[in-house]
Amino acid sequence: MATTGQEIVIVGGGLVGALNACFLAQRGFKVSLYEMRADIRTQLHVKGRSINLALSRRGREALKMVGLEDMVVENGIPMHARMIHDLDGTRRPIPYGEKHQYIMSVDRKHLNEVLLNAAEQKGIKLLFEHKLIRCDFDRGMVIFERADESQVTVSCDLIIGCDGAFSAVRNQMMKRTRLDYQQEYIPHGYVELTIHPKQNQFAMEVNYLHIWPRNEFMMIALPNQDKTYTTTLFMPFKNFESLKTKDDIIEFFQKYFPDSIPLLEEENIKETMSSTPAQPLISIKCHPYHVGTKGLIMGDAAHAMVPFYGQGMNAGFEDCIVLDELMDEYKNDFTKVLPAYTEKRHVDATAICELAMYNYIEMRSSVNSKLFLLRKKLDNF
Ligand code: FAD
Repeated sequence: MATTGQEIVIVGGGLVGALNACFLAQRGFKVSLYEMRADIRTQLHVKGRSINLALSRRGREALKMVGLEDMVVENGIPMHARMIHDLDGTRRPIPYGEKHQYIMSVDRKHLNEVLLNAAEQKGIKLLFEHKLIRCDFDRGMVIFERADESQVTVSCDLIIGCDGAFSAVRNQMMKRTRLDYQQEYIPHGYVELTIHPKQNQFAMEVNYLHIWPRNEFMMIALPNQDKTYTTTLFMPFKNFESLKTKDDIIEFFQKYFPDSIPLLEEENIKETMSSTPAQPLISIKCHPYHVGTKGLIMGDAAHAMVPFYGQGMNAGFEDCIVLDELMDEYKNDFTKVLPAYTEKRHVDATAICELAMYNYIEMRSSVNSKLFLLRKKLDNF
């Protein structure tokens, strides 16, 4: 059995990196976590992706294993059903499953902060403003660039890339091994808008994931603790680009999302839509997830997916459970754990990426169909 004094460097202090650090510290490894950005806990606003996320059973299970489930769930909002908004303003709920089944809307920044605090409490060294620029998987050497452009070289027994869809660790792996890689940008992008509280109350029914399915595009809204809804419009880039003036924007909302206008408020719609560029959505598959005995990628770095199944983070959290179980099975021996991880995880992660792509069509159109009403068995969203 390998000694637990072994040193692990995790690259990326996002959701998966911070959670993974907690799992590995719990096993007695000496873990350091390097993050390119400044510490989000010291910032009011964090640039980046979705403001809130749907946390499902997979993700909760992982949080429970490091003692954080209750803290996260306490600050989330249960969503027991989808609430479909038809064009004529009719709203109809579609439950996720049995009465007791639900998913949670959680705040991304808060979740990341909880995970970073927990990592720190478990004795993990957190280094912010350290950007990975190179690594040597044979020698276990990692080179980071700091904010002042100086470089620091670190040596370790295992390098884990949890550095997201545009992973620098994965790029380094591709230079060292025959790593198959596939990426696909879908024609849709997204813009986030906010529904503010009305008379200090939620402006719509609260315990729902609201969906406005309009075939080629759709809008969804997830509730937040501060009684706002983060509302996301998914639409092909060509449609975003066709909305050239503020009048075009409001005409578009009047045509396709009329019941959302009093909720989002006309001025906010015009302001946000005209000043916020649509963000792209990418799906990434690759194989293997490891190189030699010192390199591994997890989370979006290994399997970024389109968000329509609401499972990207949840799948990344499940990665941490799988790695933990294999560490048990192979007694922390990286020479056995790493190939076993690729073997075990690749099939499932690829399947989730494909389900997400399937739900890309399902959510914006099939929820309008009778067949969907009979199906009601999708996990998330
Ligand atoms: P990231 O969150 O991307 O974190 C990677 C971290 O690595 C970042 O902090 C980054 O700064 C850092 N980094 C990058 N490069 C370097 C480097 N060179 N050196 C050091 N650090 C580096 N998932 C769900 O489960 N449910 C949802 O409801 C959901 N909704 C979504 C909605 C949208 C619009 C989008 C786009 C995604 C959604 N997802 C959802 C997916 C989810 O956001 C991702 O799966 C999740 O963030 C992946 O976490 P990660 O830690 O692997 O990567």
